[in-house]
Amino acid sequence: MGIGDLLHRRDGPLTRDLLREPGAFGLGQVPARLAPDATTTMVCGFCSTGCGLSVHLRDGRAVNLSPSPEYPVNGGMACPKGWEALAPLAATDRTTAPLLRDASGALREVSWSHAAGEFCARVRAVQQQHGPDSVAFLGSGQLPTEELVFFGALAKFGLGMVHGDGNTRQCMATAATAYKESFGFDAPPYTYRDFEESDVIVLVGSNLCIAHPILWERVCRNPHRPEIVAIDPRATETAQAATRHYAIAPKSDLALFYGLAHLLIEVFELIV
Ligand code: SF4
Repeated sequence: MGIGDLLHRRDGPLTRDLLREPGAFGLGQVPARLAPDATTTMVCGFCSTGCGLSVHLRDGRAVNLSPSPEYPVNGGMACPKGWEALAPLAATDRTTAPLLRDASGALREVSWSHAAGEFCARVRAVQQQHGPDSVAFLGSGQLPTEELVFFGALAKFGLGMVHGDGNTRQCMATAATAYKESFGFDAPPYTYRDFEESDVIVLVGSNLCIAHPILWERVCRNPHRPEIVAIDPRATETAQAATRHYAIAPKSDLALFYGLAHLLIEVFELIV
């Protein structure tokens, strides 16, 4: 073997690891050792942006992922958090089976059918003793739509629960009320595309480029060179990239907005 061959190996485990092969399923090229035999889709759960990801499967197990190019939210991009969306599957402390506390208080693993039977029996026992409205359910805005519908049907029709609520009516109650009073409906009246089309973007307490990088990408794609106003006591990465940073004192945002509202009303009164 010559010195050239020693320095430049054309085969070996590290070289093989760099090899790509057609991934099929519209995936372009993928590492040869991770070539999938099927794919499925998921929505990244790390932040609320909702990026679509394609999960690469081999023998039914997730081995890799890529951002879905056709998904309108992220259009083939993912931030570093999204690229790690499969990491929880390998977490050693991940619960993969139901756990039931035994008489000594220790949690022990039981089968799904045993857990379901136990759950129903205990809910029924409480209802029989204290009435049907003694048990309530609480949903979460983190549940996908299908799961939330199923959860509601199961609780109401399956378990006979009378009362139910969700965190969307709790932590979001003030925001939803304000939206409704200001805009006539209970959701923010903007779209992701506004980040790409607006002339002025005001970010209040939001470190967008770190917390939701895919949305920050849209700001960066905006061809109108928008004025970016960051209102934040912190000199965040977003504040540093903004065209204006108002580093107001912590908890003084309300005073700022009351002041702005006052000025707007004054200007409006001058006009009319
Ligand atoms: S911005 Fe990043 S963390 Fe948020 S949904 Fe998209 S990929 Fe996931």
